Parts: sequence; structure tokens; C-alpha cells
Amino acid sequence: MPICRNVQALAGYTPGEQPSDPDIIKLNTNENPYPPSPKVAEALASFDYRKLRLYPDPLFHAVRERIAEINGCRSGQVFVGNGSDEVLALFTRAFVETPDGTIGYFDPTYSLYPVLTEIRDSRKSPVALPDDFTWRMPEDYDASAFILTNPNAPTGIAFPRDVVAAFCRKFRGIVLIDEAYADFADANCMDIATSPENANTLVMRTLSKSFSLAGLRFGYCIGPEPLIEALFKIKDSYNMDWFSQTLGLAALNDLDSMRANVAKIRATRERVATELRGLGWHVLPSQTNFLFAEPPGHNAAEVFEALKRKHIYVRYFPAPRTAPYLRITIGTDAQMDALLQAVAPE
Ligand SMILES: *Cc1c(COP(=O)(O)O)cnc(C)c1O
Repeated sequence: MPICRNVQALAGYTPGEQPSDPDIIKLNTNENPYPPSPKVAEALASFDYRKLRLYPDPLFHAVRERIAEINGCRSGQVFVGNGSDEVLALFTRAFVETPDGTIGYFDPTYSLYPVLTEIRDSRKSPVALPDDFTWRMPEDYDASAFILTNPNAPTGIAFPRDVVAAFCRKFRGIVLIDEAYADFADANCMDIATSPENANTLVMRTLSKSFSLAGLRFGYCIGPEPLIEALFKIKDSYNMDWFSQTLGLAALNDLDSMRANVAKIRATRERVATELRGLGWHVLPSQTNFLFAEPPGHNAAEVFEALKRKHIYVRYFPAPRTAPYLRITIGTDAQMDALLQAVAPE
């Protein structure tokens, strides 16, 4: 068969369901329940459609300069992709050889990483986290690259910045710290990427979660210039279209709006965690816009189905480590009240 061996064997990544029924309370893909900045609406309304005649800026200068300004680095240290999922795919192509390169990641973590390794046709080297899902790294661990979600998903637990920094210093391969949820956390690792001593670490962010722009497709990473140049070398010429560049820039020019939404979501997160604990749930401490929580009857799959019948969608990961839990995105207060009511004993 002409289909590549590794592609034939591939199970592929399973995204969360995107139901079209607007009555569904959608708490299954960590989208932001609040709209993006009004500056995005203004930029969209004033967008001159005639500009679409021209190719977009292949090096997206304007957004890179703004990202550099926000994060205190040079624009030559910034790469931008069509969602951070594209940045991840390019990362595996730029820094991991086929077939002998090895990609490491924690178990459990974002389930795209093993799929990307299979697509790349490289080796996997997962590191099992302990039962409480806190940091654990074997003394002699080695791989070509390690992809680290911090705060982690789907657990919501943040690894301490100093522990991550010590790992990056010692690790001989390249590290990518996926900070998709860092805006919801108390701390982040961006200074590891921007430090002049750093030669092997990239920190990645996305506009999909905290900036409410999952539908736009905009993710970026920051790190040492030689690594960023490698990503530019292999990317599609025009991977960021005019809409992504224009609307992404508008969003990045209004951090206050993002921060106000994040503050609301963090407050809702703490309230719902407390209420679920009151109902007997085991709720992991979350630094993200979701909760990873075990229902009191130890019947996560049943609760998942029961919620679905009530038109509330959450996420259930049937793999052994994650099967006791449900991942519940933090929605509006009204949506979370509906969830709490749906799980309360009759
Ligand atoms: C949501 C998510 C992403 C995907 O971000 P996009 O920019 O939408 O591609 C990447 N990593 C993690 C851990 C995520 O949860």
C-alpha cells in the first residue's frame, strides 16, 4: 500500500466533540466562555477585504514585535504558528531525527504529543507521573526532546518554576514548555526561555484559551535565536494568514481584556472546586481553566454519560491513569451552576 507504514498504524488525535446544538453547555475543550477583546471586533470590522489579494507578511513582523515587547525579548526570538499545534508539529520536525530520535513527555499529559511522535516516526519515551501527578523525573533520563505542559493537562497541576528550570539546565536535548494555560496560573516559566544563558528551551503560548481565540488559530513560542531560525526554515511560507496576523495583534494589544476574563474564570474555578469538594468529589488543585476531578461514586464514565444526557458536555479520558476523573472546563457562573445542580444528589 502506498500509505506510509507509520501513518497506517496511526490512531490519530481525537479532539473533543464540537456539537452544533447551541443549547449544549460545552465544558469539554477548554474554550473560554467569554468573547475575545472588543478590539478584535473593531479590527475585523475595519479589515479591508482588498488586502486579501496580497500574500500575508511571511515573517509576521508586527505580531512578533508585539510578542517580544510583552515578554521582554527580541523579535528574533519569537516564532508564530497556525495554533500552537502547528508549532508542536514543526518542533518535532526541526529537532527530532527519524527514526532514531526520541520524544519525551509525561504520562498523563496532552495526548497530542505521542501522536506527533508517531507521525514523525520517531521513538517515544514517556515518563510516568506519580499518583498525585506532581513532578517526577528519573535521574538518568535522556531523550532528543522533551515536551512539557505547564501547568499540566489534563491534571491542571503546575510544576514549580525552579524544578523545571533545573531540569532544563541539566537536560541534554531540547525542551518545549507548552504554556497553553499559563495565563490562568500564579507563575510561569517564560524567563527560562528569555534568559541569555538558555540554549535549549522554548516556551510556547496560545491565544486559544486565555484570549478566547480558539477559532483564530494563533500560537507562538519564544527561545534562543538559533532554535527559532530552525523553525522559520521549515515552516510553510505563509503559515499565518492576514486575519490571524491582524486579529491576533489586536488581541495582544488589549491584555487588560484578557486579564479581566482570566480573573473571572479563576474566581469561578475556586468556587466550583470548593462546591464539588463539598459534594464529595476529589478535585485536584488547578492552575488552569479546567478542573480534573473524581466523582464520589468512582464512576466517572457514568457521570460523563449522565451529564451528556442533560446536555452538559465534559471530557472523559478512558486511559487507565485518567479514567477515574472528569476534566471540566470552567464556563460562566451560570453554566457551572447548571453543572453543580446536575451532579448534586437528588
Ligand atoms: C489547547 C492546547 C493546545 C492547543 O493550542 P492551539 O493554539 O489551539 O493549537 C496546546 N497545548 C495544550 C496543552 C493545550 O491544552
